[in-house]
Amino acid sequence: MTRSYNIVSIPGDGIGPETNGAAVRVLEAVAQKYGFEPRITEYKAGGCAIDAFGVPLPGETLQAAQDSDAVLLGAVGGPRWDMIEAERRPEQAILGLRQGMHLYANLRPATLYKELGDVSPLKNPGKIDLLIVRELTGGIYFGKQGSYKSSEKLFDGTRKGIVAFDTESYSEAEITRILRRGFEFARIRNKKLTLVDKANVLNTSRLWRQLAKEIAGEYSDVELEFLYVDNCSMQLVARPATFDVIVTSNMFGDILSDLAGQITGSVGLLPSASMGNPGMPGLFEPIHGSAPDIAGQNKANPIASILSVGLMLKLHLGENDAADSISEAVRKTLEQGARTPDIAIHGDEEDKRDITLVNTTEMTDKIIANLE
Ligand code: NAD
Repeated sequence: MTRSYNIVSIPGDGIGPETNGAAVRVLEAVAQKYGFEPRITEYKAGGCAIDAFGVPLPGETLQAAQDSDAVLLGAVGGPRWDMIEAERRPEQAILGLRQGMHLYANLRPATLYKELGDVSPLKNPGKIDLLIVRELTGGIYFGKQGSYKSSEKLFDGTRKGIVAFDTESYSEAEITRILRRGFEFARIRNKKLTLVDKANVLNTSRLWRQLAKEIAGEYSDVELEFLYVDNCSMQLVARPATFDVIVTSNMFGDILSDLAGQITGSVGLLPSASMGNPGMPGLFEPIHGSAPDIAGQNKANPIASILSVGLMLKLHLGENDAADSISEAVRKTLEQGARTPDIAIHGDEEDKRDITLVNTTEMTDKIIANLE
């Protein structure tokens, strides 16, 4: 019997429909080659859902996502919806999907393709191949927040005025399940796990460290390293090749993964997977946003979205050969010199000789042609 998967596609806003469209084309092509059937249904979320239904995450979109095997998401947001109040902004769709699908582990691999060494802003980056495992549904983004008017004064007598606060809070259960994900990925990769925190200042970080030390005994084959987040930012630039798996909290992971993205060349290259407990649907999306500055111009790099399909097939649906075929097709296409504008801007004239500037559709065509 043909293996069949119920995939929800949410193109979203800006370049989302362009890059997600590319991802769907690659999924259909690779499925045909490897003998499985993706049953793809499209739903709205983000700004386009606000326009159509008045809310960023319509109930039918969330329901379909919860009932699916996996969700492929483009990106949401854009200046058209920037003036809307916080609770109804397009980005709420992402938070709503993460919460509603119980996706607590965000996996962000960052790999520097040797063909793109000249696109990295680092001079001698070495072999970058790291995985950031970011906690996704706890911490300061979901803690108690608010604001109030204070009658207190600063030491010099100035009135404090309005005070706003956000609260970082993590439970043992939330920390343990994400740490275990980190250890397990390290175990099947290069056996090194770096816990990034701010344990010199934050109570929550001290709990992360304590639990990591306790669990480490079960993963004696994995080397455990601790780094403060400020130091980690420096080390990611100074010695990126020495990292394997980084596990960290929601906010630190958010920031560090953009840094990791930039040192590998372009945000247009980086996929991500958001996963919950085994057996539950996962969400797969590029780490970039809706890039309003290039939307509708067929210029966006589709590779991050295409590699997100690869993550879905490998980490979630167990279609390993199809996933490997996508990674290899992307590598080969870059080796052949195809470059969207975001990865064609560096290097001297000599380096550019073998480069072909392509648009989103052409890059996708070439990757599909290279699927084996
Ligand atoms: P962005 O990632 O959209 O763009 C940052 C820069 O990277 C821009 O110059 C853009 O042109 C470029 N870029 C992004 N993706 C690219 C691609 N595939 N190919 C080539 N270049 C690419 O981030 P931003 O400008 O901060 O945000 C724009 C909008 O996207 C905002 O509304 C933001 O809230 C939203 N956003 C959404 C998500 C999401 O849907 N998951 C994530 C981040 C930002």
